Amino acid sequence: MSATGGDAPRPASGDHGAAAPAHADNASPRARADQNPGHKGAAHEGERVAADGRREVPCLFCGVHEEQLRFRDGEFRVVSCARCGHVYVNPRLPPERLYEMYQEEYWSSERAKDFGYTAYLADAELYLRTYSMRSAVLDNYKPQPGRVLDVGCAAGFFLKVMHDKGWDTVGLEISQPMVDYASNELGLPDMRRGDLLSADLPDKSFDVITLWDVIEHLERPDLHLARARELLKDDGVLILETQDVSSRFAKLMGKRWQHYKHEEHLYHFHPESLGRLLAELGFEVRENTPRRGGKVISFDFLAERVGKVHPLLSVLASPLRLIGGKSLYVNLRDEMVVVATKA
Ligand SMILES: [Zn+2]
Repeated sequence: MSATGGDAPRPASGDHGAAAPAHADNASPRARADQNPGHKGAAHEGERVAADGRREVPCLFCGVHEEQLRFRDGEFRVVSCARCGHVYVNPRLPPERLYEMYQEEYWSSERAKDFGYTAYLADAELYLRTYSMRSAVLDNYKPQPGRVLDVGCAAGFFLKVMHDKGWDTVGLEISQPMVDYASNELGLPDMRRGDLLSADLPDKSFDVITLWDVIEHLERPDLHLARARELLKDDGVLILETQDVSSRFAKLMGKRWQHYKHEEHLYHFHPESLGRLLAELGFEVRENTPRRGGKVISFDFLAERVGKVHPLLSVLASPLRLIGGKSLYVNLRDEMVVVATKA
């Protein structure tokens, strides 16, 4: 992909001042966090709204509607920007729907290969094991406990791992049932309903901020990450994980890749586009590796997800469901775990 200089493609900086990205002098007119901050997300300047409320959004970087169609799936299109190669989905559901769908149905979905999870909380033990492994990514950066914010923390499984290691934890999550679970079932001390744009948190107050499987869901990841930068201490560490559309597995699977879930996965980053986003927001990428992107999954989950590849596979895999309670570690190397610090 190319990032030609002339019209200075860049993500919006947000309106929070301190975290001005590299090209702040050329601040795009799209950079307006104050337009619509808060849990319903922030709109794209230049988006086109249809009668049913669905929206056609421009490239996050270039602000233009110059799409190259990668493939069409029902009413949705996965496209790449003709100018910069950034991959995203159009149209988008109305903002109200994007907010509402994460409240309850997302966590107990009846169509999980396309949307959400069948029974998220039933796999608590597996998530705790996954995050216990993933938390080791911090060993090289923050070996001593400090203060961590997990954004979009769902039921709080990552924070539970960190809390047990002695960290001071804060969780942000827009789903009230998930906030309640984290508080009441896991006993986490500081769970807040909201997101980075709405939460009242002091600047430079966190050693670590994490976003696991979050930025692909955000309408304006640029605004959220700009705010994360402000909340980090000067020597703070940002950890994020998202799927890699340029991975070998994504290419192998084509449109059947399990991360193509068009209602919820609005963006499909690759190392270049994610690196560019972070650089323009004033982060330095320290590492980007699929090595810690694996998950501990149940055989139930496996049977369900292979159904996305072919319905017959789900039938063939169904005997796996009999291996109740058994699990396995799977890393398809199609997710990026990125560690970034302030540049
Ligand atoms: Zn672009």
